[in-house]
Amino acid sequence: MENLAIAGGSILTMNPARDIIQGGTVLVENGRISAILPPGAPAPAGCRVVDARGCAVMPGLVNAHTHLYSAFGRSLSFGEDLISWLATQKGVIAQFDDEDFRLCIELGLALNLKSGNTCVVDAMALPAASGNRLYREALGLARRYKLLYVLARAYTNQMNSPDYIEDLATIERLSSELIEEFHGSADGRLRIELSPNLPWALSLEGFRMTRRLADRYQVGIHMHTSESAAYAGLIEKAFGHRSNIKVYQDGGCLGPDVQLLSCAHLTDEEFELIAATGTRVVLDPISGTTIGTGEPPTLKVAGNGNPSALATNGMASAGAQDMFESMKMMLSLARVKAQDPGAISVRRALEMATIEGARALGLDKEIGSLEPGKRADLICVDIDNVFCAPALDIESTIAFSCTSRDVRDVIVNGEIAVRDRKLLIADEATLTAQAMARASAAYERAKAAAGRNR
Ligand SMILES: [Zn+2]
Repeated sequence: MENLAIAGGSILTMNPARDIIQGGTVLVENGRISAILPPGAPAPAGCRVVDARGCAVMPGLVNAHTHLYSAFGRSLSFGEDLISWLATQKGVIAQFDDEDFRLCIELGLALNLKSGNTCVVDAMALPAASGNRLYREALGLARRYKLLYVLARAYTNQMNSPDYIEDLATIERLSSELIEEFHGSADGRLRIELSPNLPWALSLEGFRMTRRLADRYQVGIHMHTSESAAYAGLIEKAFGHRSNIKVYQDGGCLGPDVQLLSCAHLTDEEFELIAATGTRVVLDPISGTTIGTGEPPTLKVAGNGNPSALATNGMASAGAQDMFESMKMMLSLARVKAQDPGAISVRRALEMATIEGARALGLDKEIGSLEPGKRADLICVDIDNVFCAPALDIESTIAFSCTSRDVRDVIVNGEIAVRDRKLLIADEATLTAQAMARASAAYERAKAAAGRNR
């Protein structure tokens, strides 16, 4: 592994003092940041120098919730309500063969890397018949792409499509196997979390088992929560009450090792319980608004004393994997809600996308800021162009002017994965051509199957 000197950029360290070092140099040795040099200090001999003049150099972004397997359906069903949207997307996924699945995941990994997301939480629910086989495929691909990949293995034992149902003994066995084989492997780049698929779709015993496994293996719990108003009715059918958070509380699934996505329709008492238990919330401001199911409860969680994370959610509900878009949308919606541009700061959005997001996932000792000793997961964002210049306030430029297309270089675990916007791990043109061919074939099969079932 070569040593790197990323030189001459505006370094947004996101360190405790939130220092910004104009014209400094980030030194990388053996996959970790070894020093941050002041402007003008020469790079040590033997380093490969990456000229970062004209760039903001910042920690790689933490995308705390997505679904890579939704890549093929990313242009479909934006005009449909949540239930039809799900049916369209599941219809396409149901047609996947193993090669379709692999390509879909690979496209998602490539897109996240090129978008500057060096840490990704991938919530994945697969038909029961595949056991752990396809999860292993996804983890193998993530190892090749080198980003910090958190696979949240989703599971269900009630009120769901019959082909997704597993019994609790199977869920416990398969989850344990996956954790024992992969959690912390590949130099710590692969991680596993437990993911009850939907709050009504797992029995109370299933939630209690989830807590036992989380404690036994010290892994996180990651759950979709109150994304739409319809969640409450389905929870009532399953448990006789309407509260997402009561389900988790009864099942022992609240706490600092738990991440809840969305939380768009919770009550004030539910937010109080989240705050009191140290439970983390992941905000996905693009996804809930594109489908029209809910706005992020940013102001309810931003001041609750716990770290919060930011996410894109999957391509099929977000279109892109653009964390810059997520920052801007979160800020804008919160400010409209409060009728106050001071309701939440640009810096807070940057924190949620980097160090605070990492803390919400329990990864802040390793990633989320540019400090000596941390993993060298960092990005160079081109701010010296007509889309972003003049960048007099770099934090505002990042949050309001930049998009994922401005990410020029991506370094993961000390290795250059994207250079001058070119992915070095795979050939993008081949990847997109294969994806187009396979996705359109899967979509045609899905339409034919839907016609047969009508
Ligand atoms: Zn999701």
